[in-house]
Amino acid sequence: MLDISKIRAITLDLDDTLWPIAPVITRAEDVLAQWLDAQAPGAAAIFRHPEQRAAVREAVVQSRPDLGHDLSAIRRESIRLALQQAQEDTDLAEPAFDVFFVERMRVQLYDDAGPALALLAAHYPLVAVSNGNADVHKVGLGQFFRHALSAREFGHAKPDARIFHAGASAVGVEASEVLHVGDDMSLDVLGALEAGMQTVWLNRTDHAWHHAAQPHATVTDLMELCNLLGLEA
Ligand SMILES: [Mg+2]
Repeated sequence: MLDISKIRAITLDLDDTLWPIAPVITRAEDVLAQWLDAQAPGAAAIFRHPEQRAAVREAVVQSRPDLGHDLSAIRRESIRLALQQAQEDTDLAEPAFDVFFVERMRVQLYDDAGPALALLAAHYPLVAVSNGNADVHKVGLGQFFRHALSAREFGHAKPDARIFHAGASAVGVEASEVLHVGDDMSLDVLGALEAGMQTVWLNRTDHAWHHAAQPHATVTDLMELCNLLGLEA
């Protein structure tokens, strides 16, 4: 059971919590491939082929452990490797990545996300905690967040307790005073539980819960979370 009286801050996941990520990545990859078609057709062909694209990415992840959780760097180096494999100009990796990244920030919020963020932010300091490379300012949500932590900049990714603890510290509260909200059973719910937080599992798509440890509550959208917290517009 959620103990609302203890909550002094809320940490929020981004991808698949505030917006669906799959259509964003699909579109960004399409735009990247179209851009490459004109500049580097060999690399474009690699990126249009799902297995080749996955193989390039895997080669980068294996050969560059130093990139860690930096999805942007992995993406940039994957483009560079594809260009190299196609014997095309590897200097195109930077501008090609920029083309991808602009599209990656064009997210379309779930209908409930905007109104819920406004309500939540009016009552609690909000901190974004994401393993992805979205930027809350670039996606137009900067006004709602007191702080944003990305695995890329922080160096540790969810479910590591350190990124959750950093989220609590960022707004001057204890982990036990934080409610973490996210869609991912392991990365969000189990990670935040392990870090000593209360958790709400955002289950938009009617998944079954698979683990022994339980979230403090489950909601199907973020307005339901607001209702649960007793927040009204
Ligand atoms: Mg997520």
